[in-house]
Amino acid sequence: METAIVNITDDRQGKEAIREKIHAAGQLIRQGGLVAFPTETVYGLGADALNPLASERIYKAKGRPSDNPLIIHISNLEDLDQIVTEVPKQARKLADKFWPGPLTMIFEKSDIVPLETTGGLQTVAVRMPDHPAALLLIQSGGGFIAAPSANTSGKPSPTRAEHVAEDMRGRIPMILDGGPVGIGIESTIVDFSEKIPMILRPGYITAEMIQEVIGEIRIDPGLASENEEIRPKAPGMKYRHYAPRADLILVSGPKERVQKKINELAKKAEEEGKSAGIIGTEETRDGYRYGIVKSIGTRTDADSIARHLYGILREFDQLDVEIIYSESFSASGIGQAIRNRMLKAAGHQVIEV
Ligand code: AMP
Ligand code: MG
Repeated sequence: METAIVNITDDRQGKEAIREKIHAAGQLIRQGGLVAFPTETVYGLGADALNPLASERIYKAKGRPSDNPLIIHISNLEDLDQIVTEVPKQARKLADKFWPGPLTMIFEKSDIVPLETTGGLQTVAVRMPDHPAALLLIQSGGGFIAAPSANTSGKPSPTRAEHVAEDMRGRIPMILDGGPVGIGIESTIVDFSEKIPMILRPGYITAEMIQEVIGEIRIDPGLASENEEIRPKAPGMKYRHYAPRADLILVSGPKERVQKKINELAKKAEEEGKSAGIIGTEETRDGYRYGIVKSIGTRTDADSIARHLYGILREFDQLDVEIIYSESFSASGIGQAIRNRMLKAAGHQVIEV
């Protein structure tokens, strides 16, 4: 299959030309086809959420386990009532405050949502993305687009159209290229099918931000647990995920000690003839002596670290490094989502110094 990569960024083309391209992509979706598209979080792989065959195509293209449900993307609040049985008052408050935006909410599903889309569950995850091209695509594609991240299952999520092409070229008919995304990690997921709403996946919208709007909220105990018995509730959070091909090892502790340890480890790797990558920051990158050093951003701006995380893991894949040593980041604010994704990418390999 030929994969068309369609540029929808503003440079040198009019708004009308862009609208027409997105409209054509919407027609493809209505016919049951797959289109990758930018959102504010990461690139999504979209299909008509109400068409079971279209949803199945997503699982096939990604190699995604069939028990891992998809998030349905909508473009206006009225459409929510069609795909869920009930929206609790607190969920309405969150929608008012954070939609469109990087927040996904889980509800009991209505009958029009096929089990193929929800991985067999009676609940459905819904989000309204904060991205003009995504919203227009949803409208022209029929209003309900199922879209997981547009990567091969298990790999880092795509934050640029080039990343999507690496994984999906030849497997899907179209990629809308809207340039690099703004946030760079996936949405926060809040489950309203629980008595007390529960965060199943941390993201840009933090527990504190949610608490300010609705009061009490729980965090899925399965998220922090290293105990195999306590599994995360979101099926997708139980797999090794977001991972580069190389082994990733996090080194955690005071800055000087971390740097010293990473230098030792990278030196040893080099001596053993292994190519090593190092994930440092603007503040620390010049202190590394061995391996290929990349800066993930600056510690004074956690958003910059979120934005570069997946891209840097993919860059190391391209360079064929065998082992990556990374500094680790504090778990406050968006740092919690960064830490969660890094731990999963590292398969929980952390060295404390
Ligand atoms: P992705 O869109 O690929 O980033 O993954 C969507 C995430 O949402 C996965 O971790 C899913 O397991 C999770 N998810 C989607 N729908 C549900 C649901 N109904 N219940 C629990 N988790 C869900
Ligand atoms: Mg994903």
